[in-house]
Amino acid sequence: MPIATVNPATGETLKTFDPMGPEEIERRLAAAYAAFRRHRSTDFAERARLLDRAADLLDEDRDTIARTMTTEMGKPLAAARAEAAKCAKAMHWYAANAEALLADEHPSQGDVRDSGAEHARVHYRPLGVVLAVMPWNFPLWQVIRFAAPALMAGNTGLLKHASNVPQTALYLEDLFRRAGYPEGCFQTLLIGSGAVEAVLRDPRVAAATLTGSEPAGRSVAAVAGDEVKKTVLELGGSDPFVVMPSADLERAARTAVTARVQNNGQSCIAAKRFIVHTDVYDAFTARFTELMAALTVGDPMADSTDVGPLATEQGRADVETLVDDALQRGAVALCGAKRPESLSNGWYYEPTVLAGVTPQMRIHHEEAFGPVASLYRVEDLDEALDVANDSPFGLSSNVWTRDEDEQRRFARDMEAGGVFFNGMTASHPAFPFGGVKRSGYGRELSGHGIREFCNVTTVWYGPAE
Ligand code: NAP
Repeated sequence: MPIATVNPATGETLKTFDPMGPEEIERRLAAAYAAFRRHRSTDFAERARLLDRAADLLDEDRDTIARTMTTEMGKPLAAARAEAAKCAKAMHWYAANAEALLADEHPSQGDVRDSGAEHARVHYRPLGVVLAVMPWNFPLWQVIRFAAPALMAGNTGLLKHASNVPQTALYLEDLFRRAGYPEGCFQTLLIGSGAVEAVLRDPRVAAATLTGSEPAGRSVAAVAGDEVKKTVLELGGSDPFVVMPSADLERAARTAVTARVQNNGQSCIAAKRFIVHTDVYDAFTARFTELMAALTVGDPMADSTDVGPLATEQGRADVETLVDDALQRGAVALCGAKRPESLSNGWYYEPTVLAGVTPQMRIHHEEAFGPVASLYRVEDLDEALDVANDSPFGLSSNVWTRDEDEQRRFARDMEAGGVFFNGMTASHPAFPFGGVKRSGYGRELSGHGIREFCNVTTVWYGPAE
């Protein structure tokens, strides 16, 4: 994939970049490692001062960087602005909370004595240079949710961003530099995916975090495994959105639309499979379809647009293939399932609702990375859980019910990294984020996220004499 800005709203190539060669990569690896040796001994106050400054600069740049993101990957401009604001907030959150999250732990006096020590503690130290392989769909947020905790913990970062968002990737390096971070603390590598392996195998790189598709995750994790290096993987998702009879159907239908089409349908935590109890299936389906069909598809720079283009031509082709397969195997399109006739340039696709989806269809098992909803009718809670869990993915889940017994069952038995009741999945710095099964492993955000890239060290003091 060439490293280039190609506007998905027009298909026009706006800017291309030469990938960095071996000498430039070596220079940056050396700088990252040298920076780590200094950054690891800075105190939390200094790290917080730098991160707060970067957050303030990002707030000042919000409109400009939002336009860059929209130009590079097509998300509606208002959503791009909101993404930048969310990043600044998370940076301030880690600046304020990292010291407490990484405070020394003190085992009980009884355990300390039992171990033969006079005293002992558990200390969180940084690991080193962390390589981040990131996707284009939230081009700022995916990077910040690794970079803010990693830098606060005393690590340094090397970013290999998706090849279609190079200007956002370069902006991020510049942001940290302008905030005053010493050279090498945070750098962007403009490289293709084929160059990742050599960087990851370099002994100066301690660990890797990858957000992206399952094949990319498998490939990076295999190399990291071979090198015995720590990884965090945030991969795909096909999150269920369950609607039970006690749900507020109007709120559920409206939220379902947002949960499906946010980011033009290209979010790992988008609700993709809508599993509806038979008692409310017809009413929910009618309202949901009506709202989906009424969305405005168009220029992502326009305020009136709800759904912009898909980020790449291949991405749209992949969605079309999944929908065509479902239709051929008996699914029914209640709306959409085609390109909008009025938008011949750009990679647009109409919001789509498919009824009658079955396990024989690819879309039942694969991630639909576009504005396409699959509907399932179920008879009871047990069947709802069975359908929800019948997926190779396990990222997050949404359940609409006001019944507390049902809530307890879903909270206990849903195979996912999150269960959101009467709302849609959203990430927040205070809550751990990540999945199970083929959605990956490890967690981002919260104390769990910052401790992923720490060396959890036992410090044990025997009797002096
Ligand atoms: P992708 O094609 O896997 O790319 C993600 C990143 O991995 C890019 O930087 C890409 O570089 C790189 N890459 C691809 N193949 C690689 C390989 N074999 N070795 C090393 N690096 C490789 O995914 P995407 O299309 O950008 O993003 C969409 C996917 O990300 C979806 O599946 C979505 O669900 C997932 N996602 C997950 C989360 C989460 O938190 N769980 C969040 C957002 C997105 P190039 O661009 O140069 O190919």
